[in-house]
Amino acid sequence: MIDSHCHLAGDEFTSDLGAVVGRARDAGLSGALVILGAEDDAELGRAATVASAWDQVRFSVGVHPHQAGQFAADPAAAARTVQAAIDAQPLSRAVGEIGLDYHYDHAPRDVQQQVFREQTRLAGRLRLPIVIHTREADEDTLRILDEEHGRDIGGVIHCFTGDREMARRCLDLGFYISLAGIVTFPRALELKEVAKMVPLDRLLIETDSPFLAPVPHRGKRNEPAHVARVAEVIAGLRGSTPEAIASVTQENHVRLFAP
Ligand SMILES: [Zn+2]
Ligand SMILES: [Zn+2]
Repeated sequence: MIDSHCHLAGDEFTSDLGAVVGRARDAGLSGALVILGAEDDAELGRAATVASAWDQVRFSVGVHPHQAGQFAADPAAAARTVQAAIDAQPLSRAVGEIGLDYHYDHAPRDVQQQVFREQTRLAGRLRLPIVIHTREADEDTLRILDEEHGRDIGGVIHCFTGDREMARRCLDLGFYISLAGIVTFPRALELKEVAKMVPLDRLLIETDSPFLAPVPHRGKRNEPAHVARVAEVIAGLRGSTPEAIASVTQENHVRLFAP
């Protein structure tokens, strides 16, 4: 089983990284994709520590939409910053997380869009998949992915929270859908329907640690070991087994991001 999206190089994990990795291994995880903020020098610096604590981690590097405002004067600089970080980290396998967040609107929307476009183009040039963060921005996300040849680049909509119609449109664009702990929440009825309809060969699972701890850990710091709970809940919804969900999502992960 692989956690397809976590922030293990975040400062929330510096004090007990070894124990967190130990629990992930005990839970049956064989790896994780760790997201790095390209503009966050402290986090980029901690990536080496994470890789030495857990040799099966790989990295995805991007400028999150929350940070897009730092590149308002020169959106192309975001892509250059990502490129430099990827050049410096040989375990990089993707560009992300990138995208649009109109829920928090931490950066002006036109700036978010430009920074997203520049990084999508970079991924195309580097032939790397993209990890998309989209919140309350479905139409603009799909439009930009369409205009910037997202179909040829490929990638995943991480922590998917849309409805079945949005899922269908993302799948039509060739993207994978990654489900996080939200699918375990009792009230996430539409997301449970999405969990049933995504074709098995397009499904990924993640924790988005340290955020979004699943039931019964809600409200606490999340960690990669809890991805097992996501697999368990999806298995229940699909009439499958946790082992089958773990193994197919691992195959999908490796196909998308390369070993
Ligand atoms: Zn995100
Ligand atoms: Zn994230």
